[in-house]
Amino acid sequence: MLDPYEVRKDFPVLERRINGNPLIYFDNAASSQKPIQVLKAVENLYEHSYANVHRGVHTLSQEASELYEEAHREVARFINADGMEEIVFVRGTTEALNLVAYSFALNRLNSGDEVITTLMDHHSNILPWEFLSKLKGFQVKYVNVTPDGLLNYQSFEELINDKTRLVCVPQVSNVTGIINDVKRITTTAHEHDALVIVDAAQSAPHMPVDVKALDVDFLAFSGHKMLAPTGIGVLYGKKSLLEDMPPFHGGGSMIRHVKYDNVLKRCAVELNDLPWKFEAGTPNISGGVGLMEAVRYLRKIGMENVEQHEKALTSYALEKLGELEKVHIVGSTDISIKTGIVPFLVDGFDSHDVALFLDNFGIMVRSGFHCAEPLHQQLGVRHTVRASFYIYNTQEEIDRFVEALKML
Ligand code: PMP
Repeated sequence: MLDPYEVRKDFPVLERRINGNPLIYFDNAASSQKPIQVLKAVENLYEHSYANVHRGVHTLSQEASELYEEAHREVARFINADGMEEIVFVRGTTEALNLVAYSFALNRLNSGDEVITTLMDHHSNILPWEFLSKLKGFQVKYVNVTPDGLLNYQSFEELINDKTRLVCVPQVSNVTGIINDVKRITTTAHEHDALVIVDAAQSAPHMPVDVKALDVDFLAFSGHKMLAPTGIGVLYGKKSLLEDMPPFHGGGSMIRHVKYDNVLKRCAVELNDLPWKFEAGTPNISGGVGLMEAVRYLRKIGMENVEQHEKALTSYALEKLGELEKVHIVGSTDISIKTGIVPFLVDGFDSHDVALFLDNFGIMVRSGFHCAEPLHQQLGVRHTVRASFYIYNTQEEIDRFVEALKML
């Protein structure tokens, strides 16, 4: 079992007081706090082993390169990928999804093809497809959701056909915390020879994710939501797919040779191996090292324990909030298909007013439409207040949060 009071000792920020109150950080779906181990790993890199990677033959470059490569291997183990070749470091989920759009889909999809995404996706898994469809003429189709915010699998099964080339889904909704049955989606998609790209921004930090068991083709997540620094994220892709894709960006490190041809008067390029083919320019070296430490931290706790802890907190929060007449939970409360995200409304108050009110008590929650406006439309609400939990949150904090809401 995870002991959140032990975990808290690793997070210096949790000692802060806001407006005289202990800080309660319930905005984890937006970004997590960072443990001292991650901060130290980044500091240690800069103090002892920092240089640019992949280029120098000198000691510091060798050390930094080894750490940066090991970070890829650590992430591969974390999601059960086949190795470093399948792990591309990017800025975050948004960049990972755009990489698939502009490297894979731009070159393969045309008019007559179809892409399926969902109305429960974050804007970052909707807009790349909308934008690219205008350029390439393929059609984007949307799986709808039930009034409870569940993915409508029947709608998915009706939309998919032999023109479908790509299916884009979130493993967990960033608004409701509802977990989708990704295996069911990959099985159906593959029967139609469509590939599946999974937005794991809200799953990889909170539950075990196994790319082989799920049989996903691409998977994207962000380091900053799972204890790592900002500016580092991951695109997983099956090796055979990444091998066949052209690079996203051109520049240093992603090539083995660039030779000028005097006859053709052009440069011919020999691309580098995976994953470097997709990591043009100087990468986020310290971010990668921070992400490696974050993954080690989470693996030590055990992702099953992380998931169980958050489910226990969510059950408790749902029970306590259920006792408040003015508070209404948005979406399903079925804990068997939910992670640690609780969206709610308070009668007579705008979501931003609720968040500001809670801030007076040192309680940080998110308000608005959380980059998922189509889902809010489907749920019949403009905004929601979102409390989202992580490994360092406690039942005691939920009690204080509920006590504060009682004053509204
Ligand atoms: N998808 C989901 C489900 C998210 O929650 C987020 C972050 N809010 C993103 C994508 C985008 O992640 P990032 O901003 O780190 O690129």
